[in-house]
Amino acid sequence: MISTIFHDPISHASFRLKFRSSLLKIKNFGREASMRVPFYRHSLPASSATLVAEVIESGFLTSGQYCSRVEDKLCAIFGVSHAKLTSSWTQGAVAVLLALGIGPGDEVIVPAMTFVATANVVKQVGATPVFVDVEPSTLLIDIASVRAAVTSRTRAVIPVHLYGQMVEIPALRAALPAGIRIIEDAAHCFEGRRGGRRPGQDSDAAIFSFYATKNVTCGEGGAVITQDGALAANLKEAVLHGMSAAAAQRFSGGRYQHWDVARLGTKANLPDLLAVLLETQLDSVDARLAQRERLARRYEENLAATPLGFPAIEAEAVSARHLFPIHVPGGQRDRVMRVLNDHGIGATVNYRSVPELSLYRNDPTVPRNGFPVSLDWGEGTLCLPLFPTLRQDEQDHVLNILHGAVLPSLDSRMIEERGVAAL
Ligand SMILES: *Cc1c(COP(=O)(O)O)cnc(C)c1O
Repeated sequence: MISTIFHDPISHASFRLKFRSSLLKIKNFGREASMRVPFYRHSLPASSATLVAEVIESGFLTSGQYCSRVEDKLCAIFGVSHAKLTSSWTQGAVAVLLALGIGPGDEVIVPAMTFVATANVVKQVGATPVFVDVEPSTLLIDIASVRAAVTSRTRAVIPVHLYGQMVEIPALRAALPAGIRIIEDAAHCFEGRRGGRRPGQDSDAAIFSFYATKNVTCGEGGAVITQDGALAANLKEAVLHGMSAAAAQRFSGGRYQHWDVARLGTKANLPDLLAVLLETQLDSVDARLAQRERLARRYEENLAATPLGFPAIEAEAVSARHLFPIHVPGGQRDRVMRVLNDHGIGATVNYRSVPELSLYRNDPTVPRNGFPVSLDWGEGTLCLPLFPTLRQDEQDHVLNILHGAVLPSLDSRMIEERGVAAL
């Protein structure tokens, strides 16, 4: 059941589409029973297999010319001087923290509402994640709370461009003492802009994820972009154990070159086998954003007059529309999730408040009840399917189930609750 919802091979989907449309022509029957709407469906072109074959033919499988080409393109797109492809956002972030010399005794401020990786990478290098709450309207890190959380041990802040909306990086910079690094978690925000600025332009570094369900994907992967030449040089070593020469350089000129390790690194480079999948996607990101924007607005307009809540998008922001989160009031989220899943809809939870997860909840240094906005959103939120090839009949199915099977019972339960409260 779960696997059919979350992994929907195109061939399978198009077979069902043909099957379904013929069924609908006969009569509008069996709609809810047969419809499956996956959480995500990738848009990799059919030519991807040929590209992978090309890399295999080349004989060089790890990070080489295909990575370099994508890195050059990333620099051009974001107007930055350095880009490094990585095996994931997570490994890219570990490499950035190591390259900045952040480790035991250091503090890094992170939002409580994010994917757990944002906090975990800080622990992985032996530093301490310090959680702060998010703004109630946008769910983005609260800059006043960041300022209040700064101590003499603070080395960096990792703002998260949650769901695709950018944090205002110049405002965050202005709130911080000099010398504190800003590392953008841009896993949701390849296409986002704020006040005309893009990730990587006003921070020390921005990190993207090319994980299987992200807007740009190669299955597993990521990238770090930065304007800081010294950081870029350290990062080049930090992604390869700390080695002073990468494979492509060690054998250049036909002669083996010795290498050294001066500082501990991790293993975070992306192989050409995966990098080759990225190049074509980079040319079409804006077209796919326009499709997600249209679908997201259709959800918003259709659900505006309901008790469901949405994050606000600021006037000066262009959201990358990575996910479509809603907030279900009255403690009904898990019940609504079950109704959606039972009707074949691949809804997910992004995210529960990170300090509520056992690893952090059982840590006595993490304050209890310190992040009420994140807690409330994390108890109430779920994400509806949103991806460029989501068809109108698929989105209609999601909306029909919400209006038919979810909202009526939600309304009556809320009226009951209000009635009880009034007594
Ligand atoms: C997906 C995601 C990550 C982790 O990305 P990986 O490439 O899977 O390591 C980090 N932060 C956020 C906000 C994410 O959504």
